[in-house]
Amino acid sequence: MAALGAYRCIECSREAAELYRDYQRGVLRISICKSCQKPVDKYIEYDPVIILINAVLCKAQAYRHILFNTKINIHGKLCIFCLLCEAYLRWLQLQDSSQNTDPDDLIRYAKEWDFYRMFGIASLEQTSFLVGIFITLWWMRPEMLKTKSDLILLLKALLLSSYGKLLLIPAVIWEHDYTPLCLAFIKVFVLISNSQAIRVTLNLNRILPWLAIFFGLILENGVVCLVQKLRWDV
Ligand SMILES: [Zn+2]
Repeated sequence: MAALGAYRCIECSREAAELYRDYQRGVLRISICKSCQKPVDKYIEYDPVIILINAVLCKAQAYRHILFNTKINIHGKLCIFCLLCEAYLRWLQLQDSSQNTDPDDLIRYAKEWDFYRMFGIASLEQTSFLVGIFITLWWMRPEMLKTKSDLILLLKALLLSSYGKLLLIPAVIWEHDYTPLCLAFIKVFVLISNSQAIRVTLNLNRILPWLAIFFGLILENGVVCLVQKLRWDV
């Protein structure tokens, strides 16, 4: 049997040893949480599409299921892909603002270089946003972020909950009058998703995650201003 703490109850976040018990001959029974008397994880029976819809609706139970009770390990790749989407969006906006149809190779290479530059800036902004969140949470609740695994779990939760950035690509490809509104909506959705991920991972109230995100945004914008200032100075 797995050690206590291998899983978490998706309703009350209490640690649980197992999600179900196997009574053999194909009879499985979902474990009941000792604390809240509800099934530890009802989602193990659900279709992945239903779980995804619940996650999109920012339900805490779906977040707990994904973060604590599955071995999902795509946060690294997802982060890179989201950064590529963001870099592409900015690169596209840059092309629009400087219309140049010169087929000269030098221009082409300069455009590619612009893409990598946008990727670098997007990575820097993402990193400063995350650092702002970590510093705030570590400052407010140092006991919650004591071990390396606490930090890794929070990082994983934040990266996974930024999946909404993948919507940037369709929003840009099917460009229309409402694209700026769509981009703002995606930004707000990602922030709500991030706040729910922090709340679930550290078992906090609603206010502290938003405070952490607020400081994350301040640090991110500080870095943006610094980068722009350095560009003008060069
Ligand atoms: Zn429970």
